[in-house]
Amino acid sequence: MASPLAFPALHASHAGIWIASPDGETRRIGKAEAVAKAAETPMILLNAPLVAQRLGYAELSGPDLLELFAFVHPARFAVPTAKGLASVLGLEAAVHDESIPRFLQAAAAKLIATLTDPNWPEREGAWDAAQALTRLRWPWARVVADQLPKPQVKERWLFSKLPEWEEAPPRTPPRSVQLDRAAVDAQLARLTGSEAEVREGQRAFAETAAHIFDPRRRKGEPNMLLAEAGTGIGKTLGYLAPASLWAQEADGAVWISTYTKALQRQLVGEARRVFPDDTTFRQKVVVRKGRENYLCLLNLEDALQGGFAGRAAILAHLVARWAAFTADGDMIGGDLPGWLTTLFRRNGTTALTDRRGECIYAGCPHYRKCFIERASRSSAQADIVIANHALMMVNAARGREEASRPTRIIFDEGHHLFDAADSTFAAALTGAEMIEIRRWVIGPEGKARGRRRGLSARLADVASYDEEGGLAIDAAREAAEALPGDGWLGRVNEGVPSGPAERMLAAVRATVYARDEGQAESGYGLETEYANLDAPLIEAIADLMKALEALVKPLMVLGQRLEALVEEAPDWLDSAARARIEGAMASLSWRVDTLRGWIALLGRGGGPADPDFVDWLAVDRGEGREYDMGIHRHWLDPTRPVSSVVLKPAHGILTTSATLRSGGDWDTAAARTGAAHLDHEVEHFSAPSPFDYARQAEVLIVTDIQRGDLPALAGAYAALIGASQGGALGLFTAIRRLRSVHARIADRLARDGLPLYAQHVDPMDTGTLVDIFRDDPHASLLGTDALRDGVDVPGHSLRLVIMEQVPWPRPDILHKARRLAVGGMDYDDRIIRSRLAQAFGRLIRKADDHGHFVLLSSATPSRLLTAFPPGTPIHRVTLDEAVRRIKSGLSPATNFGQGSALEIEDEDIPF
Ligand code: SF4
Repeated sequence: MASPLAFPALHASHAGIWIASPDGETRRIGKAEAVAKAAETPMILLNAPLVAQRLGYAELSGPDLLELFAFVHPARFAVPTAKGLASVLGLEAAVHDESIPRFLQAAAAKLIATLTDPNWPEREGAWDAAQALTRLRWPWARVVADQLPKPQVKERWLFSKLPEWEEAPPRTPPRSVQLDRAAVDAQLARLTGSEAEVREGQRAFAETAAHIFDPRRRKGEPNMLLAEAGTGIGKTLGYLAPASLWAQEADGAVWISTYTKALQRQLVGEARRVFPDDTTFRQKVVVRKGRENYLCLLNLEDALQGGFAGRAAILAHLVARWAAFTADGDMIGGDLPGWLTTLFRRNGTTALTDRRGECIYAGCPHYRKCFIERASRSSAQADIVIANHALMMVNAARGREEASRPTRIIFDEGHHLFDAADSTFAAALTGAEMIEIRRWVIGPEGKARGRRRGLSARLADVASYDEEGGLAIDAAREAAEALPGDGWLGRVNEGVPSGPAERMLAAVRATVYARDEGQAESGYGLETEYANLDAPLIEAIADLMKALEALVKPLMVLGQRLEALVEEAPDWLDSAARARIEGAMASLSWRVDTLRGWIALLGRGGGPADPDFVDWLAVDRGEGREYDMGIHRHWLDPTRPVSSVVLKPAHGILTTSATLRSGGDWDTAAARTGAAHLDHEVEHFSAPSPFDYARQAEVLIVTDIQRGDLPALAGAYAALIGASQGGALGLFTAIRRLRSVHARIADRLARDGLPLYAQHVDPMDTGTLVDIFRDDPHASLLGTDALRDGVDVPGHSLRLVIMEQVPWPRPDILHKARRLAVGGMDYDDRIIRSRLAQAFGRLIRKADDHGHFVLLSSATPSRLLTAFPPGTPIHRVTLDEAVRRIKSGLSPATNFGQGSALEIEDEDIPF
């Protein structure tokens, strides 16, 4: 490849396909010709999996501009579209589809020219990476290697270049201080800036939030505040003011936990106001995520040294380029572009993180540079730790990082605490979970590649020093063979299960299908009560119980031996070996807890139900394909464990959200957040949104789209998106309908210059889809649940939200049990109101946002409409009328002048 411009470039959208010859001449071509050309000549592409999907040619490959960008500018943000790349590369954007292939050539030329720029900041390591990528036949490697001058001096390789973290002495407990109200006000004024308008709601919120930092009066009784702060009152700075002040005066850490990545990102931006100086910011503000988010350097080294092959190996080298420039090593939601791994169809990504808890801690040669260890140490010294609900719960439940456990906590997006707790404290005795434990004990079997090791390899020194420990490892290894092995799903489906665990799974599967009431055809998951079991299942359960007990026993003995070893401290146990053994003890105790939970779950088979839990049997399926099965257990009320392991040990807790009461009362908020299980009173605060919803928004309930009429539904989406000229977020409750609507309207809209993207259709992660949507005011995005609450797109890019129907909860076994326990229809209504409020909340993010919220369901009960902020005009209209209203916009002259927007009060809405 002499020059990138010596190659044609190909662009495919829903509107058509265009190709530019090497000399830049562009023409429109058909699918068949595009596929034939792509098969014979390498062509410059932008996002090969997306182009492949548009061409219907899965094998498509070629020099992908995004891969070149990731090589040249690792850890740099770019929206992965022609417009996005033009903006980051300083090129003129291609306005029409037909000019995009020429743009791809120009962008490639610009990136290649960067390689010879003496001021290129990401040069270090590029030459070595290019050599390795040439050996792997990366499509860009030759042209990159040709342009890159060989460094005069051999460059340090990644693992020696990364900085080491410093060990710091344990932090002293925070001082007992009481925040002065005037000081909180002053801090708030400093953070909002002197010119900012004083917002009374925000000031009152900040002052009330300061109470959670008062000295705690009694052990087990944290100062707790439930605060409903309407959108736009500025709650982030409202709590950052007292939190940062307390952290400074008390020398302690405040943990702020969110549910969505969007808010986490926003918080990082807001926290910069507290510490404008970059160095101080890095010391004082730390983002924490679960271990599985971070790059494991040992896994990366293994991948670079032959553990990965083919495309996965190329990805590993691009990740290594990124690792040298990343701020924190976060592969998911950090500065690794979300689109990079999807270009490789996620091949190898999970193997680069520490998903299976196989970290060997101080036994790892990269321990002192490890991103995970660095993040955990930094948070012990930070003022503000930005985390997420799942991490808070997992760390508390597993007793991790006891020395620096959070004591002052702010749960933002508090309406999601229930869901986060629900998944953290659940148990799943399924094939996929059991095989993980088998691999953790036994290690890789068969042709598995990579560095993964079983217990005996990880603890070889223990086995040779301590006979009892060695025997326990052998016994555990033997007992783990009772768990499902590679290929279990196929054997279970074919009726030839091997071992007690697979036999139990086969019996579960048979029971679930036997009791199916006609749902099997749907292709989605199936479930049935864990009750009235027949003899073969009861027998299989008893056999598996015995097998699990045989595994737990040696693991417990091993745990005791490791503990004794750390106490005895033999000569060979240096600090590195001690840290490794302590790490093994922590992961061992987590596995033993899991196994004990499973044994308890099996023990209840055939017996009476435990009223605290909801148990059921399930076969998990997606698109008609089974992928897991087993027995599930959830807490009937998952906020109970939250209150005992997170709330009660803390000193101060603020739980806040714009929709904390879900249209209900404070009892509802207390029940959803765990406050109801505290033995003392908690404080309440509420401040309404300052937005003028009567002027800024309009809710339209479309009355003439019949439920189940897919062509009409698709037609309605197309008409509404056309009326708003894009900028629409379409929310669905079923993936199948989403796909079907997308397939019917995407081409048509694209021809009108209105690109339509969709979750579960376009091969991109959700964060990337939202970035693309935000970047193009004519784009629209269709999605499901994750978009209802995770999209933060203020301004003109989001001016229409369309919901296909009322978001009823799925009537599964768990939901039915909770509904029964909590109060029937009211329970459902609270959930729906909360979902409607979250979806509506996407629309109006700022005081000057305007937009329409459309519900395509005539059967929308009026009692649910309190979900929308007071004053929001609500109309039941035909589709034509909705289209007309959207086209005419929301200027006061249009609506108020006709006297229509305000004349229908909520109560007046007819059915
Ligand atoms: S310390 Fe653990 S997580 Fe970190 S690089 Fe080593 S093995 Fe991976």
